[in-house]
Amino acid sequence: MDKQNLTPMMQQYMKTKEEYKDCILFYRLGDFYEMFFDDAKIASKELELTLTGKNCGLEERAPMCGVPFHAVEGYLSKLVSRGYKVAICEQVEDPALAKGLVKREVIRVVTPGTNLNAQALDESKNNYIMSIVYVSDRFGISFADVTTGDYFVTEVDSSRKLMDELYKFTPREVICNEALLMSGVELDDLKERLNLVMYPLESWYFDDELCKNTLLEHFHVKSLEGLGVVDFGCGVIAAGALLRYLTETQKTSLAHITKLLPYVSGNYMIIDSSSRRNLELVETLREKQKRGSLLWVLDKTKTAMGARTLRSYLEQPLIDKEEIEKRLTAIEELNSQMITREELREYLNPIYDLERLIGRISYQTANPRDLIAFKASLEMLPSIRTLLTELKSPLMQEILEELDPLEDLHTLVEESILEEPPISIRDGNMIRDGYNTDVDKYRTAKTEGKTWLAQIETKERERTGIKNMKIKFNKVFGYYLEVTNSYKDLVPDDYIRKQTLTNAERYITPELKELEDTILGAEEKLTALEYQLFCEVRDQIASEVLRIQKTAKAVAKLDVFTSLAYVADKNRYVRPKINTRGVIDIRGGRHPVVENMISNDMFISNDTYLDNGANRISIITGPNMAGKSTYMRQTALIVLMAQVGSFVPADSADIGIVDRIFTRVGASDDLASGQSTFMVEMNEVSNILRNATSNSLLILDEIGRGTSTFDGLSIAWAVIEHIADKKLLGAKTLFATHYHELTELEGTMEGVNNYCIAVKEKGDDIVFLRKIVKGGADKSYGIQVAKLAGVPESVISRAKELVEELSQADISVKAKAIAEESQAKAKQKTKPKTYDEVDLEQISLFDTVKDDDVVKELQELDISNMTPMDAMNTLYRLQNKL
Ligand code: ADP
Repeated sequence: MDKQNLTPMMQQYMKTKEEYKDCILFYRLGDFYEMFFDDAKIASKELELTLTGKNCGLEERAPMCGVPFHAVEGYLSKLVSRGYKVAICEQVEDPALAKGLVKREVIRVVTPGTNLNAQALDESKNNYIMSIVYVSDRFGISFADVTTGDYFVTEVDSSRKLMDELYKFTPREVICNEALLMSGVELDDLKERLNLVMYPLESWYFDDELCKNTLLEHFHVKSLEGLGVVDFGCGVIAAGALLRYLTETQKTSLAHITKLLPYVSGNYMIIDSSSRRNLELVETLREKQKRGSLLWVLDKTKTAMGARTLRSYLEQPLIDKEEIEKRLTAIEELNSQMITREELREYLNPIYDLERLIGRISYQTANPRDLIAFKASLEMLPSIRTLLTELKSPLMQEILEELDPLEDLHTLVEESILEEPPISIRDGNMIRDGYNTDVDKYRTAKTEGKTWLAQIETKERERTGIKNMKIKFNKVFGYYLEVTNSYKDLVPDDYIRKQTLTNAERYITPELKELEDTILGAEEKLTALEYQLFCEVRDQIASEVLRIQKTAKAVAKLDVFTSLAYVADKNRYVRPKINTRGVIDIRGGRHPVVENMISNDMFISNDTYLDNGANRISIITGPNMAGKSTYMRQTALIVLMAQVGSFVPADSADIGIVDRIFTRVGASDDLASGQSTFMVEMNEVSNILRNATSNSLLILDEIGRGTSTFDGLSIAWAVIEHIADKKLLGAKTLFATHYHELTELEGTMEGVNNYCIAVKEKGDDIVFLRKIVKGGADKSYGIQVAKLAGVPESVISRAKELVEELSQADISVKAKAIAEESQAKAKQKTKPKTYDEVDLEQISLFDTVKDDDVVKELQELDISNMTPMDAMNTLYRLQNKL
């Protein structure tokens, strides 16, 4: 393209575009934002706009499309939500005053992680942008929500932990250094799952000194010690790069980012990404919706801030007994004073999203209605404070202390801004009478002007005898006198004709013009002054950002605990006892979500008892649909809820704090990643065995289902052996299986117990009792379940015949033999086997076996061509060799 020939405006455009190559440039032209060339092609497709052309000085017209400026937010959000960055280029001088081409500048770059449009964002969720740097085998992580000013930093030492943080905070946008792309972290899958965009940035962003200085300057401190982040070497780089990126894209004060909060992920219960999904903490596994998740049951918060805080609590359960007890005590107190609790909830109800409001106020994008919403929220604070003084628990006292009633700001808005102002800040009508003497003066001129106009109208009617003469106004001519044609002859000579219509004539007089100058002058001055005063009020509020944020956080916490208390009360939850002895003793436990989904009181409660000694592993058998996975999830959720500091659905619960919860359940949602179901399953098992500790809680559902019965059984068996061995792992585990052979392990392996979910046979059918009882199930009832599901009768009866023929009695006998054998072995063992690092591709069922010959022979086995019996015999023989 020959730039020489471009029109001057197009040259200005190209120059700007050059600086924002990776963005779609919204270029302000009059009442439109226009896009040109490739940007226009993309935007016209994405936004369904008509692609036109503009003469740009070149032979061919430039492709062009545009959106009206007043509707820009919607279009912008659409592009951004699809992963584009948009640079907004504004006219920065008044076109009326500009000499030559109007000056234009990019005033903001909107990216997926920095969209401020309230309509486009979920208010119950933070919209995070995350920065990740990979430096010498560590990952620095920092993330921020520009709508609220939240800003965090941490550091982890493995890609798995990085994944955990990503899944915990689910950012929309990630910026990173190039090294991360080379670190071997699986990014494509991640991008798809989390629907995030990732932008590697140039290396200078991650310059050590630059990053450090960016932070020091922003927070006005002399050293990193002052920020409490010295321990996070590469975290600081991530945080600095993020702040720089935000400054560059937002191009405005980031004054509402008032703190950088360092945190250590180890201070919270660790829940890995797949367990998070499996337990359906904040959304369901399949539909990815809130309904049906734990959050859905627990979230009865009244404010957006409360909803976000509760979500973050669920995502980060605590591991410190005192902190947990503190929360529980607050809930207990709130429920002992129910009237206060409900009154508090009523006062919380009208409170708007203070965090995002103060974000907009700092960004100078808040409009008059935002200030009224702000004021309406502050109005509730004094009453909330009064109610809080009735509560004595430490947490409520803390909230009371943090909650500043902000009366000065309330008064400020009350006195300055009208109750029902327009959205626009440029049209006046927002400042209250009596707030500013000049405003009052101009307003009088305006209203008096109206009286004067009426007087002129009467006077002229009388003078001329034109009875229907009217004074009217339009933007082009200002005020004028309108005379219909029938009275045309009566028009006096001193009238100056301005316009002729078909049935009327329009005139002005010098007197009328003089009055017009006074009225319009006053109006212009008034709107300008109102705008200025509004901005002053807004800035004055912005200067109190710290106090407002602190109060907003206190309101959020109060909302969370009054909501948890309300839910506990409504759903008959109890306060769990918390212990550090590792005992989990739940009596009459219920699944918080399932009990809400099924009709009244139909949920059958169950007990769970696990400890570090004789009750470490429960093997749970029972037919499909009996309720095995509901039971196991319920146990995990009750433990998790207790550690969040919530009451729990049970008759009583004593919960030994766990450091991690791992779950391995169904594989349906992993197919997208392109791995086989079985491979995914084994990946997860491998992760669990490597990362669990003796203080973890493991929920394993049907391990080994993804392969042949025989492999499956063997793997399940070996996994239990590994977990049960205190020297290797010894974690508390619920293990559901349809391999009845595994029940042989009870009594032969320490800590293993059998449970099953009771069913009643009724003739040829079964009835689910949903009750967990001691002992193993002796039958699978697969055929009965198939019948319940409506499988045709002919198939059912054929299946019955086959069962007879294929009876697997022999396998059970063998299994028993192996169990006894291994018990004898265990007694001889002196040195514990270690779980060596192995390549995942070569993961073997018998990792712990060191004997080369056996391994070799195993490797050579053609398993897929063996019958189950052959395999079992071979296994038996091999084990005897050890
Ligand atoms: P399994 O894992 O044994 O195949 P599920 O746990 O998926 O069985 O349970 C099947 C269905 O039974 C659940 O969807 C639920 O509606 C119902 N259910 C499970 N446990 C209970 C219970 N304790 N009380 C009432 N209904 C239950």
